[in-house]
Amino acid sequence: MTTALLSHPDCHDHVTPDGHPEQVARLHHVLSALEGKDLLRTEAPMADDDAILRCHPQAHIDALRAALPQAGFAPLDADTFLSPGSLDAAYRAAGAAVRAVDMVMAGEAQNAFVACRPPGHHAETTQPMGFCLFGTVAIAAKHALEVHGQSRIAIVDFDVHHGNGTQDLLWDEARALFVSTHQMPLYPGSGAADERGAHGQITNIPLAAGTDGGRYRRIMAERILPLLDDFAPEMLLISAGFDAHEDDPLASINLSTEDFGWITAELAAAADRLCDGRIVSCLEGGYDLPALAASTAAHVDALIAAGAR
Ligand code: ZN
Repeated sequence: MTTALLSHPDCHDHVTPDGHPEQVARLHHVLSALEGKDLLRTEAPMADDDAILRCHPQAHIDALRAALPQAGFAPLDADTFLSPGSLDAAYRAAGAAVRAVDMVMAGEAQNAFVACRPPGHHAETTQPMGFCLFGTVAIAAKHALEVHGQSRIAIVDFDVHHGNGTQDLLWDEARALFVSTHQMPLYPGSGAADERGAHGQITNIPLAAGTDGGRYRRIMAERILPLLDDFAPEMLLISAGFDAHEDDPLASINLSTEDFGWITAELAAAADRLCDGRIVSCLEGGYDLPALAASTAAHVDALIAAGAR
């Protein structure tokens, strides 16, 4: 079966100040790297408020809308900015993830990659932060649980930063396994191994600066895959950040482009044995543009290979 690619031009209209790492050019590089690949290209809808409200209160949406500038930028914190198009972009990102879940559940696609921005995994229940406005991957998980009646959704977050937002949004959700690998210490500072969630369903795996692909591959084999096998999810969601790449300027983990392909293939093999290969992967970070493009291509190639099995 096929691999879906969901994106939308609105995601280019979330503009950040000059020099900001989470820049419009990221998505251009990602989409260019995926040109010519055998993908079911799908325009992302805006998320319904119902989908957002499974993770964030109305007050969060209202606060973002009230802060939206008519022109220029509105800072939400030292790192996180709104431009006039930011909220529509965030609705597209969440809508893409929700639609991707629908497509994979319906068998319209074997798996899917959501190439949207802003990213999502740092957005907490009432706190946009870390370049993120809505908790995209958590919204997708809640959609799978509540709308599709699933009972076990797993999320693997290999972005180099801790997915504090996903953890916050799913802290009490026994039906969602959340596994995050991340450099520590590093922004946002959370993600210690003793943060386990209300039901012990969260596993944080902090990585020391300098962790390389060999070490990461052992962690995959010894920690991540056994957790997935034990949980037996009905769908696997991925927070796919590529800022653990050795060329990334924001962190000091030394994964290669090939490592991202290998990681994806391992996760896809797990999904094959556990949940009929159902995967929805959402773009998170990745700030060296050539490394981001190459790593995303390796990631999506592995999804395509899995979908063709
Ligand atoms: Zn990151």
